[in-house]
Amino acid sequence: MGMTTSNRLSNFGESVFATWSRIATENDAINLGQGFPDFDAPDFVKDAAIKAIQDGENQYSRPAGHPLLVQAIADIFEFPVDPMNEVTVSCGSTELISNVILGLVNEGDEVLVIEPFYDSYTACLAMVGASVKMVTLHAPNFTLDEAELRAAFSDKTKMIIVNSPHNPTGRVFTMEELSLIAELAIQHDALVLSDEVYDKLVLTGKHIPIATLPEMQERTITLRSLGKVFSVTGWKIGWAVAPQRLTEGIRCAHQFTTFCAATPLQVAAATALRAPDSYFEEYTAEYRQRRDVLVEGLRSVGFNVHSPEGTYFVLADHTPFGFADDVAFCHHLAKQCKVVGIPPSAFYSQSDEGKGLVRFAFCKGLDTLKKAVDRLQTIG
Ligand code: GLN
Repeated sequence: MGMTTSNRLSNFGESVFATWSRIATENDAINLGQGFPDFDAPDFVKDAAIKAIQDGENQYSRPAGHPLLVQAIADIFEFPVDPMNEVTVSCGSTELISNVILGLVNEGDEVLVIEPFYDSYTACLAMVGASVKMVTLHAPNFTLDEAELRAAFSDKTKMIIVNSPHNPTGRVFTMEELSLIAELAIQHDALVLSDEVYDKLVLTGKHIPIATLPEMQERTITLRSLGKVFSVTGWKIGWAVAPQRLTEGIRCAHQFTTFCAATPLQVAAATALRAPDSYFEEYTAEYRQRRDVLVEGLRSVGFNVHSPEGTYFVLADHTPFGFADDVAFCHHLAKQCKVVGIPPSAFYSQSDEGKGLVRFAFCKGLDTLKKAVDRLQTIG
């Protein structure tokens, strides 16, 4: 029987998020691994979904997105967007990453990826047989190295994948960094896939959507999603905003992948996105508190920590504790301290720097975070 995983995916095992959520359950540990809140979504969002179901919004939607949702997305976007031709709603941004790559990248095309990276980028690039070039954000500051980025770009570059606020480093790219990416993308006529699912989680500084830079709108696909900002990661609602000529390929891949996202959840998403400014302000303020509790706690335990400017992740340097690598360290944490973090070597393919790091998620109640820090006192 020769029936096994296809050649394209044979190098990819189980997702690191699934692995470590399982290990958390097995060890009855506090799960600071996979990024999902341990608190519930706000009532006005849940009520909107229940109402949509009761109102009979229960059949397939228009594949590119329910009219109410694409209109809400266009209404809050940073520049004028045609809701019917430039927005595609999908089952979370993870599906859109796949749709964008399947819909716009050919076999052999060169794609630049910034590492550490979200793991589905490289898996989807492998599915289409793209050629991947890495540019590393180096510890401890994780800034984009101008010389490295310039050297990586060539006239063969079809696309660069950018993620700011950045998972897992928590970096929010500066105007200088984004302008450099834009300059090189324009010079080499490359597309930019801008994964901005943490756009509402900027805790220090300012989020600059790269599509708002001069001449960038025409070559940028912007991804956003509902899960983080309304604490509904299980709803899997994301969207892409891109010019029509790029949207066509994305929609083509989407309609043959899932056809459409869950209709009642799209209707509820339209309500959620129209939340008042005060919702988003409170949301960010609460996350600042969570970040500070975890960062200060990790430092008190003995980690070197780069305090994140955005996202709900923090990368900590575990080398003061003397473990062989990140995987050994995370196994020790799960067993000894009953706390789970993600070993970030899964987010690197070129550099070894992930081996000295661990990623913790702070999308958890303050009590959970404090309890986790207490448990970490027993590392040694
Ligand atoms: N984005 C989440 C994280 O980085 C995981 C998403 C997933 O598990 N698919 O933890």
